[in-house]
Parts: sequence; structure tokens; C-alpha cells
Amino acid sequence: MKQRTPIIAGNWKMNNTAKEGVALVNAVKPLVADAKCKVVVCVPAIDIPAVAEALKGSNIALGAQNVHFAEKGAYTGEISAAMLKEYGVKYVIIGHSERRQYFGETDETVNKRTLAALGAGLVPIVCIGETLEEREGGKTENVLDRQIETGLKGIDDISKIVIAYEPVWAIGTGKTATCEQANETIGYIRKKCAEVFCPKCAEKVRIQYGGSMNAGNCKQLMAMPEIDGGLIGGASLKAVDFATIVCYDQGGIQGMKLPKELL
Ligand code: PEP
Repeated sequence: MKQRTPIIAGNWKMNNTAKEGVALVNAVKPLVADAKCKVVVCVPAIDIPAVAEALKGSNIALGAQNVHFAEKGAYTGEISAAMLKEYGVKYVIIGHSERRQYFGETDETVNKRTLAALGAGLVPIVCIGETLEEREGGKTENVLDRQIETGLKGIDDISKIVIAYEPVWAIGTGKTATCEQANETIGYIRKKCAEVFCPKCAEKVRIQYGGSMNAGNCKQLMAMPEIDGGLIGGASLKAVDFATIVCYDQGGIQGMKLPKELL
């Protein structure tokens, strides 16, 4: 039994039109109906209205992939927390490495977005993690320190957010961190949170692992005591794979009757 309720979140990235997204969640819903963990799908902004409708009455919560820090105004192309909340969005990914790499996201903007999301009552899933070069250069802890100290600055209760530890070298590459590597690094993040924030909140904060988690390796990763869930990219796009991860502690989805289009 895990100390903290695990949270498995799918990150669809820029995949699935609204129609495709609805078909995917309709396939996932019955497969995860008895899940013991919290289940979330973080979908492209334009899919939100249709997917929100399709998720009604299910145990899957809706998440977005970004949020702006201003309440409203002249920020062409951006989306506010109030816009997300109107459709029942509960979670929002902030600071994904792809946003840091391709869209100029920094620890400072991550911080502003995180505080805005919390202020609006959304649960931020804040992504942190080192590049391969940083790991090989022995800088992992320095990078995480900076991302925590700056990116999470000013949060009064750290247990209100979810942290996703995503080593950049493991995202979408098929190269998963070993269970020991992921567990040890997440343990370090928790220790750092205890120092910077408060030990009690650090004990409660859920820290996911993300980076090529899939139906084959989820059980071993989730067996590690520090790992409180997963942020799942590629494998969240296939109903059977995502449901197998969500049901990692129930023997996957073996024995469940699958509709023929999923076989
Ligand atoms: C992600 O996008 O956060 C991720 C972990 O992707 P993947 O599972 O495909 O590595």
C-alpha cells in the first residue's frame, strides 16, 4: 500500500483532434473504472470542451498542458486559468521540458504560472528534470535545486501541487531511468522540498516519474517507495497501454472484456 495516493496522468502533447480524443477517452473509461489511483488526462486546449463532456460521470479528471499567469489581457495565443476552469479542468502541466526547450519557458515563468494556477484552484503538475549532459556532468542535484528553489518559490503548501520528475533524456526516447535512479532522484527532490518548504508538506507531496513509462515497466517503477505515479506521454495515446499503467496494481487489464476495436 502506497503512503500517498498515486496519480497517473496522460500527457497527450499535440496529439488527437477533439474527435479522436473523445474516442480515446471513451475507450479508456470502462477499462479504468475500478482504478485505485487518481487518473488524469492532459489534453490539447482545443480538445477540452469535447473531452470534458465525454468524461462526465467517469473517474478520470481533466487536465490541460499549460496555463498563462495573467488573469486576462493582451497575451495572444494564451489561455487563462478561468478559461480552463469553466470546462471543469482540475490539473495543469506546467514547465514540461518541451515547453522549456522549444518555447522559452524558464524557472521564473514556471513559477508565475504555478502560483497563478494554485491561486485559481487548479492543481499544477510541475515538471522538473535534468538533461543527459547535466546528469553526465554530475549536475543533476544542482539543476533540481534551482528548479525547486526558483520554480516553486512562494508556494505556501507544497502538498497542493504534483511534481513530475522527468529526466529529459528519458522523455519520448524509450530510455527509461532505472527504478533505482528514479527512486533515488525523487527521494532527493522530497528531501530538498523538506528543506525549502516544510517536512510535513514534503512527506505529502506526490512526485511522479515521467520518461518512457509504459505498460511493460510501470509495475516495477510504481513498486518503488518514492514514486507516487507517472506522467505518461506516448503510452497515454493507446487506450490499452494507458489503462494497463493505471491498473498497475490490479494485474493490469487482464481478464477485462475489450471491445473488438481495441484487440
Ligand atoms: C512526457 O511527455 O511527459 C513523457 C514522459 O513522455 P513519454 O512517456 O513519451 O516519454
